[in-house]
Order: sequence, then structure tokens, then C-alpha cells
Amino acid sequence: MPDHDPDCIFCGIIAGRIPSDTLYEDDEIIAFRDISPAAPLHVLVLPKAHIATVNDLGAEEAGLIGRMVLVARDLAAGAGVARDGYRLVVNVNRDGGQIVFHLHLHVLGGRSMGAIG
Ligand code: 5GP
Ligand code: ZN
Repeated sequence: MPDHDPDCIFCGIIAGRIPSDTLYEDDEIIAFRDISPAAPLHVLVLPKAHIATVNDLGAEEAGLIGRMVLVARDLAAGAGVARDGYRLVVNVNRDGGQIVFHLHLHVLGGRSMGAIG
């Protein structure tokens, strides 16, 4: 899989072609606010490399995914929702509700999420 997909909206954000409200960035990870927030805090944490879905991950990406979770945890703490709680979600393909096919972790907080289902 190529590192970047010219047709991918999140690759466009990573490249700076599309504006975003970026909260965190390092060599391999970026986090920005969701354009259509489902909660007071709704941030997307994603790898800069274009990986379409969780199904496309290799074992060598285990550390990357772990670091994405730590970035999400730190953003939640910075937003002041760590103690009350928050939700981390990764949607996969059609039944998972994935719309953008560049792997991303949703960080949702600032309200009660309730039970899933
Ligand atoms: P998915 O359903 O694929 O897990 O979630 C994709 C998310 O990306 C949605 O919550 C949607 O609001 C968000 N999104 C789609 N396009 C853009 C965009 O151009 N900028 C930002 N910041 N978020 C976007
Ligand atoms: Zn992409």
C-alpha cells in the first residue's frame, strides 16, 4: 500500500492541502478535531502513513497503534475528560460504519456516551 493516497481526504490534511484544527503532530501520528463532532470532544488520531483499515495492519504496526492510543489518552487528559471518561472507537469497513478509508481512532468525550447498542 502506498504511503499516501492522493484521493484520500485525510492524506490531504496530512499534506496540508486541506485545513484542519490540528491538536497534535509528530513524525508518524497526527490528531485533529472531527469536522462534524458527535461530542464536545471529538478528535481523530491517525497514522500519517496511508493505512486504509485495521484489516490492513501488519504486526510491524503494533507499536504505532499503541502510540496512537497513548496520544488519544493524552489528548483526553488535556481536554479534562480523563477522570469522567471518554470513548475510543475505530470503525472498520461498511458494517463498522467507516466512511473515510484512512485508519483513524475517534476520541469522544465531554458527555456520557451510554452503552454501545
Ligand atoms: P469514520 O466513519 O470513517 O470512522 O469517520 C470519519 C470521520 O471523519 C467522521 O466523523 C467525519 O465527520 C470526519 N471527517 C470527514 N471529512 C473530514 C474532514 O475533511 N475534516 C475533518 N476534520 N474531519 C472529517
Ligand atoms: Zn490517506
